[in-house]
Amino acid sequence: MALLIDGKKISSEIKEELKTEVGRLKEEGISVCLAVIQVGDDPASTVYVGNKKKACAYIGIESRSYRLPEEVSQEELLGLIGDLNRDDSVDGILVQLPVPAHLNEKEIIRAIAPGKDVDGFHPENVGALSIGEEGFVSCTPAGIIQLLKRSGITIEGKECVVVGRSNIVGKPMAMLLLKENGTVTVCHSRTRNLSQVCRRADILVAAVGKPRFFDDSYVKEGTVVIDVGIHRGEDGKLCGDVDTEKVSRIVSAITPVPGGVGPMTIAMLMNNCVEAARRKRSS
Ligand code: NDP
Repeated sequence: MALLIDGKKISSEIKEELKTEVGRLKEEGISVCLAVIQVGDDPASTVYVGNKKKACAYIGIESRSYRLPEEVSQEELLGLIGDLNRDDSVDGILVQLPVPAHLNEKEIIRAIAPGKDVDGFHPENVGALSIGEEGFVSCTPAGIIQLLKRSGITIEGKECVVVGRSNIVGKPMAMLLLKENGTVTVCHSRTRNLSQVCRRADILVAAVGKPRFFDDSYVKEGTVVIDVGIHRGEDGKLCGDVDTEKVSRIVSAITPVPGGVGPMTIAMLMNNCVEAARRKRSS
């Protein structure tokens, strides 16, 4: 049976480390503050924002909430982001996505100062990752690297197959695995013979957004499977992009859903906030 990679435990370890560091920064007179902007009252977004604020409170990061009405204009939202960019007491700015359809998401992401873009979505941070320079990295793929490293799984020299090429998961995941000296293949909806390509993987990252899409025909013995997907089934239970029951019989390690990649995303967001404050110390 496969080893279950415990994202809950690893994310708790990271949060404890960050809590200690935030305490130390406070002693040096450096506080950490995250501004969270939510537009409208989508229940899922409210839950995500609530979880982020809870994690901030636990670690000792101040979180400031800005709840804007559903019908807020692009100008008003950009105005708020501009104010927060100029506010030296704010280290990180996060706009909870998705925003309502009348707003321009790309423009919103670009409006956040790259040095406060703790989600790592600004083109400057994305570019920095691709040329190996310092910058904020998208939290989910950054969390996956931590999951692998802290589970003692070597990336260097491994065949890594990433299925999904989104800007927030697939593409930055591929760049990070490459940075760790993996041999990386990126697959998407036009990839031919997908299961055959996936079976080459020593490390398979499944991020297609389709419940239980990957069965045992996509893996070989010894593969490490990272299941990024998160779905609520008709039975009310959460499941991932991978059919865990079938795949676990073959592979060497797998992340569960829930309790795998999910908790790591918030831990890495917290890490990015602390990183923003660390930079204040060195500047
Ligand atoms: P997107 O919908 O943005 O991207 C999905 C990707 O999968 C696309 O690149 C698409 O290809 C590819 N794809 C879709 N169908 C197939 C197929 N049949 N064969 C091969 N490739 C396919 O999703 P995200 O990257 O945002 O998220 C992926 C999953 O991860 C979702 O379930 C999401 O909920 C979850 N997620 C979980 C997080 C967490 O913290 N646990 C955080 C972020 C996401 P193409 O580009 O060709 O269309």
